[in-house]
Amino acid sequence: MGTEKENKKDFTKKYETAWDKYSKEDVEKVFALSDRYKNFMSTCKTERECVDEFIKLAEKAGYVDINKIIKEGKSLKAGDKVYANNKGKTLAMFLIGSEPMEKGLKILGAHVDSPRLDLKQNPLYEDSELAMMETHYYGGVKKYQWVTIPLSIHGVVVKKDGSLVNVVIGEDENDPVIGISDLLIHLSADQMSKKLSNGIEGEDLNILVGSIPVEDKEQKERVKYNILRMLNEKYGIEEEDFVSAELEVVPAGKARDYGFDRSMVMAYGHDDRVCSYTSFEAIMAMEKADKTCVALFVDKEEVGSIGATGMSSRFFENALAEVMDRAGDYSELKLRRCLANSKMLSSDVSAAFDPNYPSVMEKKNSAYFGKGIVFNKYTGARGKSGCNDANPEYIAEIRAIMGKHGVTWQTAELGKVDQGGGGTIAYILAEYGMEVIDCGVALHNMHAPWEVASKADIYEAMRGYYAFLMEA
Ligand code: MN
Ligand code: MN
Repeated sequence: MGTEKENKKDFTKKYETAWDKYSKEDVEKVFALSDRYKNFMSTCKTERECVDEFIKLAEKAGYVDINKIIKEGKSLKAGDKVYANNKGKTLAMFLIGSEPMEKGLKILGAHVDSPRLDLKQNPLYEDSELAMMETHYYGGVKKYQWVTIPLSIHGVVVKKDGSLVNVVIGEDENDPVIGISDLLIHLSADQMSKKLSNGIEGEDLNILVGSIPVEDKEQKERVKYNILRMLNEKYGIEEEDFVSAELEVVPAGKARDYGFDRSMVMAYGHDDRVCSYTSFEAIMAMEKADKTCVALFVDKEEVGSIGATGMSSRFFENALAEVMDRAGDYSELKLRRCLANSKMLSSDVSAAFDPNYPSVMEKKNSAYFGKGIVFNKYTGARGKSGCNDANPEYIAEIRAIMGKHGVTWQTAELGKVDQGGGGTIAYILAEYGMEVIDCGVALHNMHAPWEVASKADIYEAMRGYYAFLMEA
């Protein structure tokens, strides 16, 4: 039996909305961060554009390319800032700490690739005097969502001489947009009786790009030829150059405030640029650290983290070895200790509870808009398969850090057990033996052309990442 006062102690945990705790000044900060984020999201719609923009901003803040440090034979000391750029599509930023590297790193990791439609290798063709382009979707998309919306094209074409042409068409308000047609309702009897999953098939995702023929009546496929001529005039490219191109078709237009109260952001590619951008701001706010801080932005998460720019490549390990070497602190054993002693927040988006679709969620373990950064002990599917199951000792440490900094956080699973699931990059880093937990920002419309996130959650994510870099 305790005293009456002790008996009144509340042992329950309530997950409350962050909006309740904000002062007027806090709300200004919440909205200011989202304004910066919207600017970023309105222009950075490919992994390359994200990496380019991060490097540009990081260099202004004193980050130096590790290759330059190596070339000039310089060494690194506490407080130095370096980055490693992997083929323009993966980026690792390091803020060198005062402690020996073998004590481990504090790592923020997120991915900068997003679901989209990639052009095929031979994309351009003419059918019925219309110029069309073939696509192959990238990542998990509901194909019917990509028709009848304005699309833009972003990417690079690398010519045979190695020169690289940057392409962005459809974002400037004076630009044309492109798009994929859907069948008129009047003639959709067959289509409407199909399952949603095959109402629009992968091979139906062909983009209409032109309809004017060239004047020369001798020319075959005059409409297609006219498009090739225009591309050649503007970019100096020929049809064969599509073979060595990475052209990504994405929703055209800017990120916008969402809701009458402007409490949310609608954007293309929140998954996972919302975690990338907030992680980036968090490490940029750090000037010195005990343990070396890292922000890692990777490609190819949406297709299984494969390839030279995906998390499964040795890029990060190699970059870390170079950094340790420049810090005068490298050996194979120290590298392994460093990785095993590291701690990581592996960030990716979560599903926010949606009143339109309550049946797929288990309400007690769902994420909600406004309730802050989401921690997922595990992700995976069907019996946690493929997940990283974070250790409770580590979760306790994270709880304490979030509490110390007054960060609003929540915990969630991705929907009901056996309803589906998803994976992240967490398990890949955990292979080194480091402590890793999944976390991130909850969304509506995940993987749709336009996804929605809460401004409060974006702000709390950034604060959570900063708290982790300060305290872990
Ligand atoms: Mn993701
Ligand atoms: Mn995803």
